[in-house]
Amino acid sequence: SLGVAWARAWVEASADVMRQNRMALIDLDRAIGDGDHGENMDRGFTAVLGKLQSTETETIGDVLALVAKTLMSTVGGAAGPLYGTAYLRASKAAGTTLDAAGVADVLEAALGGIVARGKADREDKTMVDAWGPASEAARDVARAGGSGVEAVQAAAEAAQAGAVATEPLTARKGRASYLGARSVGHRDPGAQSTALLLDAAAAAAR
Ligand code: ADP
Ligand code: MG
Ligand code: MG
Repeated sequence: SLGVAWARAWVEASADVMRQNRMALIDLDRAIGDGDHGENMDRGFTAVLGKLQSTETETIGDVLALVAKTLMSTVGGAAGPLYGTAYLRASKAAGTTLDAAGVADVLEAALGGIVARGKADREDKTMVDAWGPASEAARDVARAGGSGVEAVQAAAEAAQAGAVATEPLTARKGRASYLGARSVGHRDPGAQSTALLLDAAAAAAR
């Protein structure tokens, strides 16, 4: 089941996936931003991993709160406060173990934090376009009586599809919005990093 050991494994998998995708995220951000997203996320999760290894955690909430605090102070840019708020809200929504409804609650809380902070709507070509479908997919699994692990897997798939679906969109929030129509044809880096993080969550659950 999805408990504190899973949450810690999720952080470890997140640090791995950000290291491995550093250049890919830099390339995406180079096309429609300032080219630092991969560096920002890799730096952030390397710091999170270091903190985690020297910190005892009793609950999923403890782990996610540690992620939030560390990302806020190390990532910077637009993504740092957005992810920081997402993980902070998620930490408050997480129970001792997560069933499918619990996964949906956590993802909805994260999405709520991002929207409260960044004021983006769906299809503005931001990370909201990955978190939104992910939380809905998890809720669908819960309604159908599926497990927490199934909910995380469905969320990861929906986030990746959501990231791909940002490609034809015109950016209306963040740095990419300065490009207007020239942002069309490129995938949003923050939506892609969200998909990678949720894929890490699914990998940690297997
Ligand atoms: P910066 O643009 O400051 O260099 P990053 O490159 O680290 O920051 O992060 C850029 C990502 O942040 C974008 O790809 C997008 O997903 C996300 N983003 C930017 N502004 C917003 C917003 N208002 N709401 C949601 N996400 C946003
Ligand atoms: Mg950037
Ligand atoms: Mg920047």
